[in-house]
Amino acid sequence: MNSSSNRSIQVILILIASITVSLLIIPACGTSSAPDVDEDRLDELTTELGIRSCLMRMDSISFEIEGLIFHSQVDITDRQAVMALIPANLPNCPVSDLPYIFEDGELGLLIICPSGHGSVEID
Ligand SMILES: [Zn+2]
Repeated sequence: MNSSSNRSIQVILILIASITVSLLIIPACGTSSAPDVDEDRLDELTTELGIRSCLMRMDSISFEIEGLIFHSQVDITDRQAVMALIPANLPNCPVSDLPYIFEDGELGLLIICPSGHGSVEID
């Protein structure tokens, strides 16, 4: 074989190697797909966020009522005076859309979620 023929064979081998490498790399780059979504985990996160949202709303309502009590200078132990400050209709739970319950019980003044998401004390 002459040097020209060897050179042609080298060029062809390099070309085949390049095409082979390209065929291996290109599909790997182009096949990125969305990660699998775990529907159960997604439901858990939605529920968790709903509960947190509910607790934050009750905290906010409690803060507002405490402000009403403070500014009206009502003694918190005077339950009748405190009850007069509480709006008749409290906002709703963001998850169930049921109105919160206000309770004056043994544990003190509470805002309770009717859907079981918890309660917040007014102090
Ligand atoms: Zn709730």
